[in-house]
Amino acid sequence: MRPTAIDALLQETRVFPPSEEFKKQANVNDPKIYEEAAQDYLAFWARCAEMLDWFEKWHTVLEWNPPYAKWFIGGKLNACYNCVDRHVKTWRRNKAALIWEGEPGGERVLTYSDLHREVQKFANVLKSLGVRKGDRVCIYMPLIPEVVIAMLACARIGAPHSVVFGGFSAEALADRINDAQAKVLITADGGYRRGSIVPLKRNADEALKNAPSIEKVVVYQRLGTDYNAPMTPGRDLWWHELMANAPLVCEPEPMDSEDLLYLLYTSGSTGKPKGIMHTTGGYMTGVTVTTKWVFDLKDEDVYWCTADVGWVTGHSYIVYGPLANGATCVIYEGAPDYPDRDRFWAIVEKYRVNILYTAPTAIRAFMKWGEQYPKKHDLSSLRLLGTVGEPINPEAWMWYHEHIGGGRCPIVDTWWQTETGAIMITPLPGIVATKPGSATRPFPGIFPEILDDAGNPVGIDRGGYLVITKPWPAMTRGLWGDPERFKQTYWSKYEGIYFTGDGARRDSDGYFWLLGRVDDVINVSGHRLSTMEVESALVDHPAVAEAAVIGVHHEIKGQGIAAFVIIKEGYTANESLKDALKQHVVQKIGAIARPDQIFFTADLPKTRSGKIMRRLLRDIAEGRALGDTTTLADPAVVQALKEKYEGQEE
Ligand code: ATP
Ligand code: MG
Repeated sequence: MRPTAIDALLQETRVFPPSEEFKKQANVNDPKIYEEAAQDYLAFWARCAEMLDWFEKWHTVLEWNPPYAKWFIGGKLNACYNCVDRHVKTWRRNKAALIWEGEPGGERVLTYSDLHREVQKFANVLKSLGVRKGDRVCIYMPLIPEVVIAMLACARIGAPHSVVFGGFSAEALADRINDAQAKVLITADGGYRRGSIVPLKRNADEALKNAPSIEKVVVYQRLGTDYNAPMTPGRDLWWHELMANAPLVCEPEPMDSEDLLYLLYTSGSTGKPKGIMHTTGGYMTGVTVTTKWVFDLKDEDVYWCTADVGWVTGHSYIVYGPLANGATCVIYEGAPDYPDRDRFWAIVEKYRVNILYTAPTAIRAFMKWGEQYPKKHDLSSLRLLGTVGEPINPEAWMWYHEHIGGGRCPIVDTWWQTETGAIMITPLPGIVATKPGSATRPFPGIFPEILDDAGNPVGIDRGGYLVITKPWPAMTRGLWGDPERFKQTYWSKYEGIYFTGDGARRDSDGYFWLLGRVDDVINVSGHRLSTMEVESALVDHPAVAEAAVIGVHHEIKGQGIAAFVIIKEGYTANESLKDALKQHVVQKIGAIARPDQIFFTADLPKTRSGKIMRRLLRDIAEGRALGDTTTLADPAVVQALKEKYEGQEE
């Protein structure tokens, strides 16, 4: 028998084919697309690249010197032109591009023409501050239309942006500015989150004490004149004052297909964040075609991706992908539970949102709060739902399907990474029947494989390491300033093959099931268990909203299983529930996966993008000092958990 990398034990048999009605109207509904792409993936991607407007066409589709790929060589284009200018030349010029809602209330609608004007003016502002093609610009803003304007203005003049999520601390911001050696910082006086003010400018000032590369700071006035943001004369400038005098016209810079569009730091779930580089032609091709096909995006749709632009999901599926398609995008500044836990559903109802793309972490919070919140609103406008960020537990998928999708909306569970740039494994909703918890099939032209340690394919229903065997246009071109780490992290496990760091299995229909990160795999008496499967078995119990599972040292088994469990409102945490949960896991997966310890908790340590950080749970369980915590959403959660854990230990 071949060595398996991960045992895959959890089975799921429910299947949801697309309705005839959905199929008929879908942007892609002919399964031949998969074969065509597999037969000649270069021709396939070249056809996808035609969805963009090029100033000059490429002469060579791909040059592949692993780990470095060049796509659409010789091609010239501009990302901002593709997202804005080309729509202004059509009937879309007065179509809503962004519909923004502020957390404390307030809404703004920007048409493509508005965007065109504002972006050109701000591009001229950047030029007047000395920003030239190739200079890095750091953006640290709340989720307001100006953050999109700033990104597109950078793209217009060829200055790579580095967006830092507005929830990050001064220290995290300084690290990222220094790593990128950014010249200009764009920020705001502050933003709103859960009813409080986030003092962005004060954080930025703190960061700038240790970030000497920044020459100028542009400050957007979000909070207003009553809030006196500190301004340093000579360095800090108000957005509105600069814009008042900015010329209206700024021609887009013709960029080489391989010129850097942006760099962006990963979530830091597994360690210190990495500065991922994305270039122009390949990246834009990947995000444009995936947005159109995966979300089945139509011109008349209202599309809402709930991510922040500070994450890759925001880059690819709020800004570049949807705008390249001329979409109408909702953006919401604040928290899902402010002023109440029905805020998302109120927004869906108000703007008649058709396509909703969110994360499992949010869905599990909605489950915990209860279905009475979505029930208060008319969600009948929704026709497609998406998820990204973590594996989705089958029960969370079912909840999303029933309580948000009204049982009628296809769900696209999209697997991808900051490094992959665009969606890689996903259903095409007019073709592929979905199964709860499976990301289903690779996008056409993408070639994933599941390997064991020795590099052999693992076979049906066996867990292993998810890799990508051929290059794809939106793949990262490397880590900013760290080619060694790039090779080490992704290209050293297997020769010439991209190693994702995630585990997966494939079923007899060829569907992919993501098993979580390989760093998190638990080894119980020689069985390699995926955290995802044990967690999903726990979430399958009616009392459980969310669970995080880790391996802890065990005298006999090598590792035992510790589960940190969040229960739904209305249930009581007690010893008998612990026993019931252990029994439930045994029933779903088998005795091998029986948790040794269960800890009830109100919160789990998560990255600011909402991913569970199991490595910190391991640090807690094994009594170690905590590893890198700079990307943690709320440091108080880990501290409280650490104390509780140490107090509870038998
Ligand atoms: P770091 O690489 O710094 O540890 P990160 O991996 O969390 O951070 P991202 O690039 O934001 O940073 O996240 C990509 C990861 O998110 C994937 O490798 C995978 O583990 C997880 N992921 C994303 N979407 C899905 C999905 N649909 N199903 C399963 N896992 C997913
Ligand atoms: Mg990662």
